[in-house]
Amino acid sequence: SFTLAIVGRPNVGKSTLFNRLVGKKLALVDDQPGVTRDLREGEGRIADLRFTVIDSAGLEEATDDSLQGRMRRLTERAVEMADVCLFMIDARAGVLPADEVFADILRKKNANVILAANKGEGKAADATILEAYALGLGEPIRMSAEHGEGMGELMDVLRPIYDAHEEKAAADAPEVDVDVGEDDEDAPRIPTRAKPLQIAVVGRPNAGKSTLINKIIGEERLLTGPEAGITRDAISVQQDWGGVPMRIFDTAGMRRKAKVQEKLEKLSVSDGLRAVKFAEVVVVLLDVEIPFEQQDLRIADLAEREGRAVVVAVNKWDVEDEKQTKLKELRESFERLLPQLRGAPLVTVSAKTGKGLDRLQQAIMRAHEVWNRRISTAHLNRWLTGMLEQHPPPAPGGKRIKMRYMTQVKTRPPAFVVMTSHPDLMPESYKRYLINGLRVDFDMPGTPIRLYLRDQG
Ligand code: GDP
Repeated sequence: SFTLAIVGRPNVGKSTLFNRLVGKKLALVDDQPGVTRDLREGEGRIADLRFTVIDSAGLEEATDDSLQGRMRRLTERAVEMADVCLFMIDARAGVLPADEVFADILRKKNANVILAANKGEGKAADATILEAYALGLGEPIRMSAEHGEGMGELMDVLRPIYDAHEEKAAADAPEVDVDVGEDDEDAPRIPTRAKPLQIAVVGRPNAGKSTLINKIIGEERLLTGPEAGITRDAISVQQDWGGVPMRIFDTAGMRRKAKVQEKLEKLSVSDGLRAVKFAEVVVVLLDVEIPFEQQDLRIADLAEREGRAVVVAVNKWDVEDEKQTKLKELRESFERLLPQLRGAPLVTVSAKTGKGLDRLQQAIMRAHEVWNRRISTAHLNRWLTGMLEQHPPPAPGGKRIKMRYMTQVKTRPPAFVVMTSHPDLMPESYKRYLINGLRVDFDMPGTPIRLYLRDQG
């Protein structure tokens, strides 16, 4: 089931939250002093969300020199078991060096993190909230596990992750031919955390999605044919591609159900939406004979809005005679029709012959790498100073916009926060100036970049 791990240094309030989520006060059983309890597990809930909660509270009893090492190991284990980690800091204490150790583990493990500043009631916590951005783990939720505050916010951030997980579990289920035996419940739960790179191949019917996937997986696991809609409901396959484990989502499955053309379009888009949500990198596959169709544009735009890395691949390149001219034309159309995807790679392929697939794979890997890119705060602030000098922000109505501090709060896709005075007065054009600057100066093609402004007086 969906698993949430609560991690953080001792005494931040992990157990209090655990008890609140699990809903009963589990007595802390410690018959032998000095024995470190292991990870605690319970069935947690917030509103209608039900999940497994893991608490790494056992650490609080550990007081000897090996604390650091044990903390690290236990946390790493919790992270490996979890779908999402709630990283708790103490808003009254501020961000301490020990917190950085945990932040570091979470980053290294590439964990899905919800940052929570506990004991957040009252004004005293304000400074910590700002400091917490600098951990580079996203927007902190202010909560009080003791008083039950912030549970709504926690639910809000948890829900999309939870939903995506449930949807994915449902989508994954049919293709696994598991023989459910009687004793299945006793079988050990093996966490499979060697996560494959998740790709969705999207595009209009007959663009060649199934042919492409067939070529990659090297066997006829999907059916292809000349008429639209012949692909059966094979929604995803996992396959090593050039030594890299990948899970490939196809959006073709649902097309079969659509009989009418207009319905077809609708279904393809909503189906595409589903695949796009699961994916890390979205490959928009175009047919060289009818590139950049309405449907292609919609799905590419969707991928950008969902914050996915995007690679555009032009298929059936084998039938193109005027390759040079065509390529130029394609690049122009791309720039004009999909300005929101500026810098995304455009690769020509032939799914049929397999030509260009190595370049496609490289483009996917690179887009994925950029999507995960993290830039140090020091580097960002030096850059920001330069940008401000080169082109100072406007002074609408005589009010000077002062930008004080910038930090990356998220990856996948990269997201940044700028602390600024009068964020409401900042024109869109200035935001675009900064975003484009980030893209060029830090070499981040093919990924959406988010920039948030926060009021800091
Ligand atoms: P899907 O609907 O996007 O899954 O498209 P299919 O994979 O079913 O392909 C539609 C048609 O295009 C089939 O007849 C394929 O043989 C053909 N096709 C796919 N890729 C290529 C290619 O690279 N070159 C050529 N010439 N034909 C292709």
